[in-house]
Amino acid sequence: MYDVIVIGAGPAGSTAAKVLSDKGLRVLLAERHPLPRYKSCSGILIQKSLDFVQHCYGKKVPLSVTCTPVENRGMIFTDDQGREYRFEQGGLNVWRSSFDYWLTEQAAASGAEIRDHTSAVSCKEHAGSVAVTLHGKTTCVETAGYVIDCEGATGVLKGKLTQTRGEFITTYQTFNQGTVQLDPHYFYAYLQPELSEYDAWFNVKDEMLVLGVSVRDPRKIELFYQRFISYMEKRHGLQIQQQVKAEKWLMPRIRPGCPILYGKGRVLFAGETAGFLNPMGEGISAGMESGCCAANAIINHFSSLEMVYDDYQRSTQPLKLYMERQWKFVGQRAGTFSEMAR
Ligand SMILES: Cc1cc2nc3c(=O)[nH]c(=O)nc-3n(C[C@H](O)[C@H](O)[C@H](O)COP(=O)(O)OP(=O)(O)OC[C@H]3O[C@@H](n4cnc5c(N)ncnc54)[C@H](O)[C@@H]3O)c2cc1C
Repeated sequence: MYDVIVIGAGPAGSTAAKVLSDKGLRVLLAERHPLPRYKSCSGILIQKSLDFVQHCYGKKVPLSVTCTPVENRGMIFTDDQGREYRFEQGGLNVWRSSFDYWLTEQAAASGAEIRDHTSAVSCKEHAGSVAVTLHGKTTCVETAGYVIDCEGATGVLKGKLTQTRGEFITTYQTFNQGTVQLDPHYFYAYLQPELSEYDAWFNVKDEMLVLGVSVRDPRKIELFYQRFISYMEKRHGLQIQQQVKAEKWLMPRIRPGCPILYGKGRVLFAGETAGFLNPMGEGISAGMESGCCAANAIINHFSSLEMVYDDYQRSTQPLKLYMERQWKFVGQRAGTFSEMAR
């Protein structure tokens, strides 16, 4: 029997597993993919993420997980009237598979048992414990006092426990060889409604030009992507020589008021599973912080479920308020997000 089973080795899950293991709790971290696992991402660690890693992991993010240009100098976003806003802030450009694996290795070094290639398929609560069915090389049932569900946007456990499907945004991004007249040290976001149903973006990773659009209706990906490419060609002299890779992903659609689902019974939700995600798809900082808060709530009040929830909600309040402020700001500047300004 474990004290806590953590599902999903993303930023939320690895952080929860590390924090719990640091306090000597017996932790199993189950990840459905082989590690290091791939995650579609722009891979920008904002200053908030870097500060959190330093604070929680006690070290700096290693250069081995970065790509070029290593230094991210901030974000430049264009609102729906074509006005540019610059946010200068130091950050880091990383490959997610490497960064997330580094976080998982830190959890393992603190004592967490890591099982990759292992999917949580269901869980059942008994008096004072949860039994989780795991599909890996074999199928087995593991039991713990608590589960922290960090499955990301499309959690099967959360769906089963809450009977909800959630709403999603589909992201589509391509990696290209080519040239563009933009400073590669910045992340560029475009909020014009003709370019995407959510946002469109550009950044550079290891000399590759990454161009993406996000939509509510996946059938419109091609339409918006072609419009975005034309816009970038005309506005910033984009020239694509060769497309190297294209990928689709899902992220949660955040609704007005930024509702958070903290958990069900002895299963707490963290990261995107709970609904933590900042505008422009910045979710690594919120994932790590919410994973840490969920873990600390269990450490502080293991024997009282009620107090665990109370602690978790209280300790994530600043994170939720930050998220609400950020979404409101974007909602005031772009029609596609106007519902968020209310
Ligand atoms: C295109 C795109 C660009 C982005 N760019 C940025 C960025 O530049 N900066 C930033 O901060 N954020 C970015 N984000 C958001 C960021 O990737 C997420 O918010 C963050 O990864 C959420 O962390 P998480 O731990 O909640 O979930 P995830 O990172 O999604 O991790 C969930 C893990 O759970 C595993 N899993 C799922 N189900 C099961 C199961 N049943 N059993 C076992 N394991 C399971 C998955 O395989 C996965 O490894 C971007 C997102 C997208 C889609």
